[in-house]
Amino acid sequence: MICEKIERIQAEVRASALRCGRNPDSVKIVAVSKHVPLATIRAAQECGQSIFGENYLQEAAGKISQLNSNGSLQWHFIGHLQSNKAATAAELFQVIQTVDRLKIAVALNNQATRLNKQLEVLIQVNVGREAQKSGVLPEKAEALLREMQPLTALRVRGLMTMPPYGQEPEASRPYFQALKQLAGQLAKANLFHDNEAVELSMGMSGDFAVAIEEGATLIRIGTAIFGERAR
Ligand SMILES: *Cc1c(COP(=O)(O)O)cnc(C)c1O
Repeated sequence: MICEKIERIQAEVRASALRCGRNPDSVKIVAVSKHVPLATIRAAQECGQSIFGENYLQEAAGKISQLNSNGSLQWHFIGHLQSNKAATAAELFQVIQTVDRLKIAVALNNQATRLNKQLEVLIQVNVGREAQKSGVLPEKAEALLREMQPLTALRVRGLMTMPPYGQEPEASRPYFQALKQLAGQLAKANLFHDNEAVELSMGMSGDFAVAIEEGATLIRIGTAIFGERAR
């Protein structure tokens, strides 16, 4: 059943990409497995899903250690990060998508340096300017990236966003466009690790087709793969 859902999403991603003239391989699916039991994650892994996103460190730590995969899985942290937990996050994850302030970046860099590891990070941007949401404000992103340049254990790959919740997928489009435009400006200023290949993590179960049209390279899919989460 999980395989069918994953195959359906893969087909939809492919169709969306082709429809707007993009290479389907340029969009990767991050399976968001928060609150999803280990056996289900294993089933998804057996269907070929290799990138997973988790929001809660403790929950993720147990799963990651038990799914010991000889490096065949890639784990992305997509939750809110506190600086006193950054060391744990740097150890467990290959990619941290939610860096939004210097203190977190410094803590991640310190731990990655200690581990002799290059840590991939994305900058979370609060494009909707919502008070309750994490993320750097768009106009503060450039300064943050400049302050992060000396942090050599971090590779800043791109930007991530969670637009304001909307009923209609189309409601997300202006926020996705704003993220892409900001990424373009920052790339022009050479502030990413690879300014020719900037990652844009945007789009979830309800609006990933719109996100792909607007340039998403990473889409974060929970419900459409694993079903509704028990809360
Ligand atoms: C839970 C979550 C998702 C997945 O959302 P769905 O609507 O279930 O696909 C994506 N991104 C973040 C940051 C999340 O916390």
